[in-house]
Order: sequence, then structure tokens, then C-alpha cells
Amino acid sequence: MCCLHAAAPTPDLILRDTITDKAYRTYRLLPFDVPDGIQALEIRFDYTGRDARTTIDVGLLGPGEKFDIEFRGWSGGNKRSFTLSASDATPSYLAGPVTPGKWQPLLGVPNIRNGQTTEFTAEVYFQRNNPAPLKAEAGWYRGDLHMHSAHSDGNCASKSGDKRVPCPLFLTLDAAANHGLDFVAFTDHNTISHIKELTAPQPYFDKLLLIPGMEMTTFQGHANAFNLREPVDIRVSSKEVPDWNTLLTEAKNKGALVSINHPRVPTGEACMGCGWSPNPPADLSLVQAVEVVNGNDIESPITGIPFWHEQLQKGYRLTAIGGSDTHDVTSKNVSPPQGRIGVPTTVVYAKELSIDAIMEGIRACNVFIDAAGSRDRKLELSATYKQTVAMGGQLSVPAKQSVTFTARIEQMTGGTVEIIRAGNITRRTGIPAAKHTWSFEETSDGQRHWIRIDVRDADGKLALLGNPIYVN
Ligand SMILES: [Zn+2]
Ligand SMILES: [Zn+2]
Repeated sequence: MCCLHAAAPTPDLILRDTITDKAYRTYRLLPFDVPDGIQALEIRFDYTGRDARTTIDVGLLGPGEKFDIEFRGWSGGNKRSFTLSASDATPSYLAGPVTPGKWQPLLGVPNIRNGQTTEFTAEVYFQRNNPAPLKAEAGWYRGDLHMHSAHSDGNCASKSGDKRVPCPLFLTLDAAANHGLDFVAFTDHNTISHIKELTAPQPYFDKLLLIPGMEMTTFQGHANAFNLREPVDIRVSSKEVPDWNTLLTEAKNKGALVSINHPRVPTGEACMGCGWSPNPPADLSLVQAVEVVNGNDIESPITGIPFWHEQLQKGYRLTAIGGSDTHDVTSKNVSPPQGRIGVPTTVVYAKELSIDAIMEGIRACNVFIDAAGSRDRKLELSATYKQTVAMGGQLSVPAKQSVTFTARIEQMTGGTVEIIRAGNITRRTGIPAAKHTWSFEETSDGQRHWIRIDVRDADGKLALLGNPIYVN
């Protein structure tokens, strides 16, 4: 799909008002009807006469009997558009359901000179429009896909250091920006109350994309739902939600991308339902990714890599991602398996830096994990037989034909590249220089295979983990 932002969205309604100098220092309403089933409202407005010092202030009333119910916000002269939904709203406006009925922009006229007339126009959209991407170009974007704030069990020392308190989300955003990340996903447990705190700071964090998410935390496993803006019912094994498939289907219907979290962390009193243990088993075709690295667990017995390999062997094409699972971004003493923000970093090839493009990039699987969160290490893998594909791609190769794989590794010297085929290391080679390109051949036997590479640093530590290319 190309040109996501090329076409301007079409408004559902256009409201117009001609305002003369008689309206000086008065208020007026511009009613319109909201139909049933609307999740989000966006209004973009403009008016003529700014050069003649005309000023029109803007607010919004919704359906209601009394002003304090009707009141949905007031931005005066300080904004040209706003969005409002049950989960979040542009600052100046109140998040709340977009109930059907009569809604009314409330206009104030503080300045209009004698003899002046202004044409006020408001475009009403019964949806949330995609914001402009933070960066328009295609490339590798680095992010952390798992963290918690005061909206669940994120906690930190208070300002004075005297006590532990629910940790303000802003501190995590600041730490992520300082780490040079391009995107973060907030995944508080079983709630979306943090989304309104992502909408307000996004303009300030103009190089850090803020992705709403939820860690769906059940007694039978945890999974992150990325780009989720509505609540989902996580009561797996109840009358309402008989099994994980019900929850996965609801998340999918609400537009989320789902990743199984820390599948091999033991379930117990220390960690409620942490291990992936759906009963009955979940249909993994409803899942897009697996968190194979959680914090610093990459080489521990609880790493998610074997679980992921098992699913690849079964034919599920799940993208390997990582997440720090940061709960206290201020702590100086983070002991494994807890990770600092950006440790690990998931690096996604995307056509631009926007939520849709990062989600599309994770689905496409041209993704690697930078276990130490280095900021600049890179791992690219492509394969060529009649055509060239990147990680996540597929080639059809008849038996006895050979495929050329090319790996490019940057910012690693003295380490080792490992080729992994069907879960086993089949070859190793050293990395002589900071920028290293290396090719190898694989001969097809006509059967299905997946082939991927890992990179170890000079100390033998697993540093970069790549996603597979599929043959047949
Ligand atoms: Zn978890
Ligand atoms: Zn978590």
C-alpha cells in the first residue's frame, strides 16, 4: 500500500458561519449531528480576516442537559484542530465518548473591527485522521516496545527520594528520548488510561513516536496489543471470555497488533500468569509477533528464543521483537533480567516514522533486535534467487538450486556471525571490520526452511538477533 498520507482526508461535514462586526464580544453556536457508532471526532477549523486582526475563539459543547455535562473543552485562539475520543483528546479538550446527538462548536469573538466580516469554516471528521509522520523517509527505526508507568505498576522514588510512588509517564518519555529512540510503546497492564498522556506530549517529543498499547495480562499468559485505543476484556477463562482466542479476536477487531510476551518466564506468585499457557491452546495465526527478548534475559534459561523457534518450526511466521519491560526508569541499579529503557532495542525497517508504518514494518518482519540497545549497530539480511528479499521475505527455490544470502553488519568488530537454519547453528564466521558484508550460499532441497542470522560480540555475547527469510 503506497501513499498513505498523500491523499487529504475528506471531511464528513463542513460547517460555515459568516461573522460580522455585530458579533464583537459575543458567543455563538454552530450545531451539527453526530450519528451512532462514532469512536472519535476531529475538527479542523480556519477563518478569514486574520490580517485585519479578527480573532475567533473556539470551544466545544456535546449533548447534555447542563453546561458541565455539555462542556467538552475550550482552546480559545490557541489551536487550529483538535481530536476527541473516549481514550484521549487534544489538550484543552476532555476525553469522553462521542455520544450521538447534537454537538456544537462554541465560538467567541474577542476581536473584529468595525466594517469587517469573517468566514469561519470547520471541517468535521467522524474518525481520527493519521497524524503526519515524524519522519517521512524509509529506514531503520529503533524503539522499545514494552514499558510500564503509573497507569499500572510502574514505580520510582519520589522527587525527594523519600518514598516509592507511581512513576509519572513523562520521566519514561524523557529517558527514551535521551536514549535516542525513534519510538516507544506504552503497555500498561489491562488498561488504556495512559493514552491521554501520550496525546498531549507527542508534539513536544517531535523525534520520538508514542505508540499506545496494552499488556493483556491474564492468568494464562501475557501479550502486548500495540496500537490499541479501546479496552479489551482480558478475563480469559471466564463466562465472558472463554479462551485466549476470544481475546485475540477482539484485539484484532480493534485494530491491534499482538505479540506474546516473555513466553518462558515461570508463572507463580512472583509473576502472575507470566508464562504463555493458554488452555485450550491459542490459535497463533491470530498473533503477529513474539517478545523473544525481555529486558536482559536473552541468554538466560527463560529467554523466549526456543519458544519462538518452535512456532517457526510449526509454520507460524511470527516476528521476533524485544522489550525492556521497564518499570522504573529512574533506577540506577537495574539487575537482570530487568532491562533499562531501550535494552533491548527493536529495530524496524519502515517506510516512514508513523504508528501505521511501524506496525506494518513489524508485520513485514524486516526487524532485528539489538540486545544491548547500542544506538547504532545494524543487521541486514537479504536472499537472492531470481529476486531479492529481505528478512521476513519468502523465496520459492526448486531442489538443488542455490540461494545467495548477504548479511551486512555495522558497528561490530571482532564478533561472530551465526547462520541458524531450523533452529540449529549451521555455520559461523568472524567479523573483521566495523562495516562488514558477507555472502553465503544455501542449496535448496525443495522443502520448507527458515534461515536467519545472529551476531555475537567480541566477548561472545549475543548482540544482534535477526528475523528469518523463508525458503519455499
Ligand atoms: Zn508481562
Ligand atoms: Zn510488562
